[in-house]
Amino acid sequence: MNRGKPNYFDSLFSQLKEKLPNLEIHKNEAIAKYTPIKAGGKTKILINIRSSNSLLQLLLLLKKRQVFNKIPVIIAGGLTNTIFPNNVFRGILIRSFSLKKPTFSKTEITADSGYSLKTLIDKLTKKGISGLEIFTGIPGTIVGAVTGNIHGFGGVLFSNFIKKIKVFNLKNGKTEYLKSKDCRFAYNQSIFKKNNKLIILEVRFSLKTLKRKNREEVKKTIDTILEAKKNQPQNSLGCAFSNLSKHQQKKHNFPTNSTGWFIENKLNLKGFVLGDFKISENHANFIVPADSQKRTNNAGDYLALIKKIKKAAWSKFHLRLKPEVKIISIPKNFQP
Ligand SMILES: Cc1cc2nc3c(=O)[nH]c(=O)nc-3n(C[C@H](O)[C@H](O)[C@H](O)COP(=O)(O)OP(=O)(O)OC[C@H]3O[C@@H](n4cnc5c(N)ncnc54)[C@H](O)[C@@H]3O)c2cc1C
Repeated sequence: MNRGKPNYFDSLFSQLKEKLPNLEIHKNEAIAKYTPIKAGGKTKILINIRSSNSLLQLLLLLKKRQVFNKIPVIIAGGLTNTIFPNNVFRGILIRSFSLKKPTFSKTEITADSGYSLKTLIDKLTKKGISGLEIFTGIPGTIVGAVTGNIHGFGGVLFSNFIKKIKVFNLKNGKTEYLKSKDCRFAYNQSIFKKNNKLIILEVRFSLKTLKRKNREEVKKTIDTILEAKKNQPQNSLGCAFSNLSKHQQKKHNFPTNSTGWFIENKLNLKGFVLGDFKISENHANFIVPADSQKRTNNAGDYLALIKKIKKAAWSKFHLRLKPEVKIISIPKNFQP
């Protein structure tokens, strides 16, 4: 019995509160509260960050205390593309949702990684700067858009607009700049998906790729996109699976590579319910809570639905579907 002796998380929590009194730090916090699908277990520590300067300060402290070697640390943006299972996450979840305004120079725009993508698009539209509005209707933060290299209207990739990225390198404890060409951007891919030692702090957009345009024209594009995306439910984690490859589409002679079309027309699973979650009736590649009023949903049902769709695709068509959602796995008996 070690009654009276604080455990690792209790003492880490107290140290963080003492050293970084301006940060919002929670103990044993429910993750479901922060996700659009209201699912996921508790995290031992959750830290809400409001600027990339605070994020850097926190990372330096965690590095100095060797926290990264002892427990898992996950850094997230809006959590609109990430699912945690039901069991307790014995680590730190950092939610970076920056409120710091972007800065504009003659050649570039610099924004904190945790800044809201929608707010950035709104700001640019007001200034008559066009380009990023093709990503209208995509929730979350800039870092989510960079990590997943999101595709906007017409399939244009987010990386097309990026000049440089400021990162904190967990390996050497230094901040450095990566040029866009060093980030291995491809459809839904970036170096940050594979290398979790590179923590994004700031993103610089090139004004060469962003053009001046009449505000009304930009607004028209935004309205067209919002109309086209209106069947995509906001209480989801976006598309559950990536679209089929051209090879998969051709092999089966499908009229489209849309996974939503495949789940609806070939697997006949549109509207299928499994416990707390269902395949959306509006768009079959989106998984949503079965009861939108419920305050907490079972993340296990979301994950079981992913498994069910994958299994059906494999057994009926020998087709391997790739989840687009980031699934966090938690080791069962981990103790720091
Ligand atoms: C209704 C809806 C519509 C959508 N439409 C589209 C669409 O048209 N096109 C498209 O491509 N996507 C689309 N998506 C998916 C969308 O791209 C993601 O939901 C969004 O970009 C994720 O942003 P986030 O801030 O919530 O990321 P999170 O889910 O919080 O994080 C995403 C990833 O970033 C990593 N990360 C977070 N912070 C850092 C950091 N500081 N440094 C390094 N890595 C970090 C996390 O570990 C995680 O892997 C849609 C989603 C929804 C819900």
